[in-house]
This record gives sequence, C-alpha cells and structure tokens, in this order.
Amino acid sequence: MENRIYLPESDMPKAWYNPMPDLPTPLPPPLDPQTKQPVSPDQLAVIFPQAVIEQEMSSERYIPIPEPVLDIYRQFRPSPLVRARKLEKAIGTSCKIYYKNESLSPAGSHKPNTAIAQAYYNKVEGVKRLSTETGAGQWGTALSYACKMFGLDCTVYMVKVSYNQKPYRRILINSYGSTVYPSPSEHTKTGQAILAQDPDCGGSLGLAISEAVEDAATHDDTKYALGSVLNHVCIHQTIVGLETQKQLEMAGEKPDYLIGCVGGGSNFAGLVSPFLPQKLAGENITFIGAEPKACPTLTRGQFRYDYGDVAKLTPLLKMHTLGSSFMPAPIHAGGLRYHGDSPIVCNLVANNIVEPRAYYQVECFEAAQLFLNSEGFLPAPETSHAIKAAIDVAQTKNDGSTIVFLYSGHGLLDLASYDAFLQGDLKNFDYPEEHISEALKDCPVVDEN
Ligand SMILES: *Cc1c(COP(=O)(O)O)cnc(C)c1O
Repeated sequence: MENRIYLPESDMPKAWYNPMPDLPTPLPPPLDPQTKQPVSPDQLAVIFPQAVIEQEMSSERYIPIPEPVLDIYRQFRPSPLVRARKLEKAIGTSCKIYYKNESLSPAGSHKPNTAIAQAYYNKVEGVKRLSTETGAGQWGTALSYACKMFGLDCTVYMVKVSYNQKPYRRILINSYGSTVYPSPSEHTKTGQAILAQDPDCGGSLGLAISEAVEDAATHDDTKYALGSVLNHVCIHQTIVGLETQKQLEMAGEKPDYLIGCVGGGSNFAGLVSPFLPQKLAGENITFIGAEPKACPTLTRGQFRYDYGDVAKLTPLLKMHTLGSSFMPAPIHAGGLRYHGDSPIVCNLVANNIVEPRAYYQVECFEAAQLFLNSEGFLPAPETSHAIKAAIDVAQTKNDGSTIVFLYSGHGLLDLASYDAFLQGDLKNFDYPEEHISEALKDCPVVDEN
C-alpha cells in the first residue's frame, strides 16, 4: 500500500512517443500566413533548429532522447506518481486518485521537459542565443534554466503587466542569467509600433510571441523557442505519460480517467498521448482536458486555421481558436490564457477522443485549497483546473474507478492569487459569445480543399 510510486532512474524512458502516426485523422499542415500555402522547412529554419523542424513534421512513432538531454532530465526525473489517499478521504470517494507530480523540477513545472530538449538541439547546431516570450514567467524560467545547462544566452519578452505585477519569476529568470524585457518593448519593430500608439499597453502573450519571433528572425546567431502548442513540444512532454504508464504498471493499476489542464495543450498531450494506442485499440480510458471558462478554447472556440500571434508572423495552425486578437479576462491561471491550442489536442477533441470541460476560477481555487489541506502541496492556479476535474469525476462516479491527473506545477510563486482568493476578491468570468464572434472575424480565410 505505497503512496508514492518511484520509477528507478535506470527505467526512465529513452525515447519520446510521437502521436502523429496514430492520430485518427491526419494533421493539416501549418500554412504561410501570407500565401496560405503549406510552410516549407526552409521558412521555419529562420527561427527553429533543423532537429526541431524534423520532429515537428515527423511520422516516426518513437524518437530517441539524446543522452545529454537524459543527463539533465536525471537531475529531477523520473517524477513520482502519487496516490492521493488523503484527498480521496476528504471527498469521501471510492475512486482511486493518483497524480503525476511535475512540480518537482527546477522550474516548478513540466516545462523543463521541452526546454531542455530545445536548448540542446540549438546548442548542437551552433546557436548562441534563444529568444522567447513568457506570460506569468513559468516558460521563461524553464528556458532560462535549460539555456544555463547548455551555455546558451537567453532573452525573454515578458508580458508587461506580469513583469510589473509578478516580479518573483522575473527575478528567478534574471538569476539564471537571462535578459528580460517587458513586452511591448523598444527592442523590436513590433514593440516600437505598439508603444507609439499606446505607450501604456500592458501587452499580451500573442504580442510577446511576435517580439520574440522578430528578434530571432533578425539575428543570425539567435533562434526562437516556444513552450507549448507545437508538435515537437507535445512530443517532448510525452516523457510524462510514458513514465506514468510504467508506474501504473508497477502499482498494478489500469487508468479509467486521465486528466490534465489545457493552456496550449502540452502537459495534457504529454500525459494522454502515450495512452492513445490503447484507447484506439478499444480500452475504456476517458481523456479529460480542463480549461477556464474565461478562455474556453476547446469548449467554445471554432476549429479552423488561425494566426498564432497578434502580428500574424507565425504560421497558421488548424486549431480550436477564440481569435488571435482575443483579450483574456484577468484570471489568475496565466498559463491557460492563450487564444488557441495544440493542433494535436484539437485533433483529438474534434475526433471525440478528448472530452474538454471548462471551469470557473473560484471553483478551481476551492479545489486547490482542498488539495492543499489534504495532500499538503500548493498547486499552481493552472493545475487547479485538473484537480477540479479530478474531484468532479471522483464525486460523480464514485465507482472505484482509477483517476490519474497531471500535477503540472506548484503555486509557491502565485501566492498573490491565493491571497486574492482568500480575501474573496476573485471573480468568475464567462467569455461573452459576442466577443467570440467579433474576434473570429479576424481569422484568415483559408480554402481547405
Ligand atoms: C504553462 C503551464 C500550463 C499550461 O501550458 P500547457 O502547454 O497547456 O501545458 C499548465 N500548468 C502549469 C503549471 C504551467 O506552467
């Protein structure tokens, strides 16, 4: 009756799983935002290293993890799978609840799993510096750590409101030796143009992406790294699901429910996609993706091609989207406020393989509080969506099912959000239907035949 299931380091998976060959319908290609034709690998080479581009388009089911990446993974992996007995007791369920704890990494989330891989591939190809965006700072932290491990410089464009309101992750990023600019910044043409119009602009994730991409595209020694959404990111995150499979086997369990929160979709895809072949072979596993009602991409967005950023620089992706000009309500789960989602996750939703659910932030913080007061750990506000969904299933089913959710990160640098919750200052937001239809008018018109 052990609570924590530790996989020996020697049993850590040595290849990532690529869901591409197993998807029920093929992924439509990314398109050039101007010509609306499929982007060529050459176009992507301006901002990404070759190895990453190959993975983005790969149809190999297993991709070997390079030894130098495994070497850094071993600083904190394999991560434990934990039976949440005290949470089960607190909610009085007969279901078994397990969580895969990705909060024990140096950055405190799952994000280093891809940051380390991306930093490595760039290093091998002679890149000197990576540029990226960050919202609340989790991705900036993960990439800064990874760049430090491989001796790369790192420039982080941080959404200006977060830069001002949430200094702690910025300080952590600086401590890893990276440069942080509040976005919009004077360091790019995109930033300059926005500041000329609106000097007080607080920025957005889409805008920070535009700046980071421009930085990489205009400097020969610099490439760009994205922390979510794209196929290669989801592939790197499958280390999470692959370890979970081995750990469930060690515990003699078969999962009935796999649950994760969805921002850009990478932690969720990393957990569920290794289980895809089993599910397609007829095993009864339910995949649940939990998102905020204030940013209801999977539950209310349209499934169509859209831009990835405000400046319309990135390739068009076919995904569920709320429109690239979407301005999210100021909810506290900063990592779940992106207008689009991973094409892999969207494909699974469109094929009814993933069930999306949306929750209000107050009910998620209540779930987080219950978790804190039973299991003892403080979850990230993003993670609280997965916890809410897991508790929901445990309460409504109460049939002995085995529920596994992904504990994507800790909330120790999100204490101001918990303070607002404890003071009763948190509001719930529904995203108005008019705003969705308004923002979607901006989507590109693409002939898909
Ligand atoms: C970034 C982040 C998320 C959301 O990103 P995904 O790509 O959807 O995984 C979720 N949880 C935590 C803790 C994060 O830092």
